[in-house]
Amino acid sequence: MARVYNFCAGPAVLPVEVLQQAADEMLDYQSSGMSIMESSHRGKEYEAVHNEAIANLRKLLNIGDDYAVLFLQGGASMQFAMVPMNLLGQGMTADYVNSGEWASKALKEAKKIGKVNVAADCSKDIPTRIPALSELKLTKGAAYVHITSNETISGAQWKMFPQTEAPLVADMSSDILSRPVDIDKFGLIYAGAQKNLGPSGFAVVIIRKDLAERAPESLPTMLQYRTHIASNSLYNTPPCFGIYILMLVTRWVLKVGAENLYRRNIEKAAKVYAAIDSSGGYYRGTAVKEYRSDMNVTWRMASEELENKFIKEAEKNGLKGLKGHRSVGGLRASIYNAFPMEGVDALVSFMKDFQRRNG
Ligand code: PMP
Repeated sequence: MARVYNFCAGPAVLPVEVLQQAADEMLDYQSSGMSIMESSHRGKEYEAVHNEAIANLRKLLNIGDDYAVLFLQGGASMQFAMVPMNLLGQGMTADYVNSGEWASKALKEAKKIGKVNVAADCSKDIPTRIPALSELKLTKGAAYVHITSNETISGAQWKMFPQTEAPLVADMSSDILSRPVDIDKFGLIYAGAQKNLGPSGFAVVIIRKDLAERAPESLPTMLQYRTHIASNSLYNTPPCFGIYILMLVTRWVLKVGAENLYRRNIEKAAKVYAAIDSSGGYYRGTAVKEYRSDMNVTWRMASEELENKFIKEAEKNGLKGLKGHRSVGGLRASIYNAFPMEGVDALVSFMKDFQRRNG
């Protein structure tokens, strides 16, 4: 069996030992005679998985009792709509920071629901970046302030979060669990699972419970955070298998140590950026240095033709998924928690070798 180095942006690489354990337990989960996928979501086997997944997240992120941890279907995109549906009351304004493609999508949904103020917009800036805190034009008495902690496509990342009077809401899809965060600074955090947490199909939502009470009772039951808080994300059948994998991934993070992963993430990203910066302009980073993402490293080359050649040859060398997002082109190396250091070293030596042969 040959595993490649998988640089995909999401779904993305998962820890090998998690995949191995899932494979070992596939036919007979803990002597139940069936896989966890086939088990009742009300049974004791699945219940233990579900509750451990929540407990692990609580431990890793130091989440207090005033917050609920939810697993909700529809991915992060569903949260683009659920956040304003639940938190943006009539006559209120929500502040949105538009830092790129994902922030724009969140903003577009909020506008369908209520009144929105664009607190800053650098979504079209090249090189790509995050607005400086001093640029933010926040509304007095805003319902909430929405940010996108890491723009997966452009490779720009908030390094310091704003202190806001209104509850801070963050889309952390592509950098949750990759670095320390102070949960108490946020009213709500959401993240699609398919990068640092597990497979696709759902989002993790961490919400300060009092905020869920803002939702109008007329909102459909499934769209109210209240429903899922009251039922511990078991109002209907949850994505059991995905949550099982998340449970294994969070167990792995606890074992390796979140701090160790954080340090390793910085080191991994620094190696790729160093390869870009020392190439004499052969590789050109696309994000402003100060805001360079530690999760998604993006760069361009002299022509699309050369970029395609790079991608093709990289693939032949077992480096897969380096093509930039279809909306922007270029190259992108997504190096989430589970991405190994050896894969980064392999990429860096391939970059140097490619330049030597084609420079
Ligand atoms: N936000 C960000 C920052 C993302 O990177 C993505 C997906 N790549 C999404 C939202 C959308 O997530 P989903 O596909 O789970 O709806």
